[in-house]
Amino acid sequence: MADNADNTVTVLENCRVLDVETGDLSDAAIAVANGEIVSVDNGIKATRDATVIDMQGACVLPGLISCHTHLTIVFPFSLSDPEENPAMTAYRAYRRGQDALNAGITTVRTVGELNRADIALRKSIAAGWVTGPRIFSAGLGVSVTGGHGHGFTAEADGADGFRRACRRDLLAGANHIKIFLTGGIAHENETLEESQMADDEIRAAVEVARSKGTYVCAHVGDSEPIMKGLEAGVRCFEHTYNLDAATAAAIRESGGFVVPTLAVTRSKDWMRRHGFETWTICKAAAAGSDHLESIRNAVKAGVTLVNGTDIPPGDTDDGAPVAIREMEHCMEAGLSPLQALQTATTNAARLINRRDLGVVKAGCKADLIATQDNPLDDIRQLAETFFVMQEGRVVRDDRR
Ligand SMILES: [Zn+2]
Repeated sequence: MADNADNTVTVLENCRVLDVETGDLSDAAIAVANGEIVSVDNGIKATRDATVIDMQGACVLPGLISCHTHLTIVFPFSLSDPEENPAMTAYRAYRRGQDALNAGITTVRTVGELNRADIALRKSIAAGWVTGPRIFSAGLGVSVTGGHGHGFTAEADGADGFRRACRRDLLAGANHIKIFLTGGIAHENETLEESQMADDEIRAAVEVARSKGTYVCAHVGDSEPIMKGLEAGVRCFEHTYNLDAATAAAIRESGGFVVPTLAVTRSKDWMRRHGFETWTICKAAAAGSDHLESIRNAVKAGVTLVNGTDIPPGDTDDGAPVAIREMEHCMEAGLSPLQALQTATTNAARLINRRDLGVVKAGCKADLIATQDNPLDDIRQLAETFFVMQEGRVVRDDRR
């Protein structure tokens, strides 16, 4: 501590630190400097120059990571405007980022953004102009001409077209590649089973991602296109509305990930509040039981699940941020409270290849949140998060 005893040291005293790998709670103080956790230890004595924050016995855990975020999406979708002034897109992305951060989501992985506003926001945060969650971006995302996300994604056809579009996203600052293997539930003229991409197009996207040391994640509905994606090397499957047991086992075998986004098919009230047309609400709800059954198959097969919501993760549904609701949905699919919490911490960190996120340990980023009681006793505690630190900076502090 003495070596680091400068103005940048902050000590969080009287914490009950939750180990999200084991579920154990231990009394400790957390020393933070230069955006990182320096030590987690019972014996820390704050030096005279350190800023001391008394956590009053609160439960302290890592900031949450939500991995299927659209910061720029417009609701209802019918009001979307592909020609929108990019400044409007940026303001919306900023607002959604603030909501996420306030809810304790210190990192988001975005999966397709209008005008690549997530990358602009990331640059603005890095410049110190604004605060916001740490952002891992897919850029625009790439679909086939007229495919899912039409009007908002980059559209490409053929292996060469996909190579070019994927390289453009990476050049613009994307961290991973997002593709669209099938239709979705929110649009009238497409289905969950239709394969929109040809095998060579999928392989081209994977090849480009791998050449830059990253991976492909894919929007997908049914098992057959999931298998197609798996065989071509896709690492992470989004939604998986209809996932059978055999395909779930194959994902597990490959070490792949599933981001269930169960919130998509079980947020009726949120959809009504955001002006969705009745047919969309009905279509989403109708897919709900198959979706839950699919994620149950994933849980039974031991697939690594990662938190993601499609709906902005800091938006509220049924009294809790949607990212927290998603944990509850995953518990309905068979996860324990600890496993549900891991979807937004350790599992998510593995997906984005960051060992320094998702845990409270020396050497990791000082992304910390606090709740009064242990969220493993009641996951809803996370909706009562009253303290948020991101990279050593306090961004929310509602201690009494
Ligand atoms: Zn999405």
